[in-house]
Order: sequence, then C-alpha cells, then structure tokens
Amino acid sequence: MLISKNTPKSEMIKHGNCKTCGHCCYFTSGIVLDEEIPQLANEFKLSEEDFKTRYLEEFTKLNTQKHRFKQLRQGSAPHGRCIFLNVEENKCTIHKIRPLHCKISTCDHHGEDAQKWFDVKHFLNTEDRNSVREYAIYTKLKEPLPGASLEELVPKEKLEEFIGGMEND
Ligand code: SF4
Repeated sequence: MLISKNTPKSEMIKHGNCKTCGHCCYFTSGIVLDEEIPQLANEFKLSEEDFKTRYLEEFTKLNTQKHRFKQLRQGSAPHGRCIFLNVEENKCTIHKIRPLHCKISTCDHHGEDAQKWFDVKHFLNTEDRNSVREYAIYTKLKEPLPGASLEELVPKEKLEEFIGGMEND
C-alpha cells in the first residue's frame, strides 16, 4: 500500500497491521486526539477531566500539544509502557476502543509512513510558524509522504515568511 497525505483514514485503518506483539506498547503509548477523549472517558464512566488525570499525559510534537496514554516509566527512563498494556498477557486491555493512532500504528514496513501520515494530519499546523519550521527539519530527516512536502502544503509567500533564512538562525 502506498501511503500519501491524502490516503483516507478508513484505508489507513483497514491496512493497519498490528500483530499485537505488544512491542511498541512496551516503549511508547498511543496518541489520543481531543475528539476521542469523550468516548474513552464515557467507556470508563469518568468525566473527561478525570479520565485525563488518570490515564493521559500531555505530548507535544511539531509545536502542537495533544495527549497520549500515560507511560509507566522505570526510574528516570524517558519512555515506558502504555498504561493499558497488560504485561502478563502481553495484550492491549482496551483493544476494541483503542484510538486511531493505535489502530494505524504497525511495526511492519508501513509503520514509518503511517506515523508520517498521522503527524501531517494531526500535528502539523500550517498556520503556525514554529510548527512549520519544525516540520521543515522533520522533512530533512525523513522524506515526506507524497503530497506532504511543505511546498505542497504552504503557500509560497507564507513559507518564505516562516522559514526564509532559517539556515542562518
Ligand atoms: S492503548 Fe493499547 S494499542 Fe494503544 S499503546 Fe496502549 S496498549 Fe498499545
């Protein structure tokens, strides 16, 4: 499957290829979009605020702040396992209601492109100078998906305003 910026969400979910090995969930946790919080909170019969306090932590990427599931870290380790990973059974305890990010994430060869798709859809803010500047660095390190280069996403004048002279900063 060739993933581009315009690949529909339904296709991303359909081709999600999680083998439920639990490996990713030992070292990181899924992003939770703002619009997914009410349903998750409802499943746990909690208010949104209580759900956030118990199960989520803030996470910022491309200068956009969202939430992800809390990670249970050992000591000062920067990463830990997802709070919803059952380590005895090596299973996600909320598999049926897991959020989009968990549904599309995979450790097969599509994994990196799936993450890029999610980042450009949900973290890049083309109206925000710092988000665009961070994405400029991101796309120097990782080739953007088809349709997701900054030249394709941001009008020329705005791009010049946001990242012109960035090399000299
Ligand atoms: S919610 Fe489930 S699939 Fe998502 S990171 Fe946590 S354990 Fe893994």
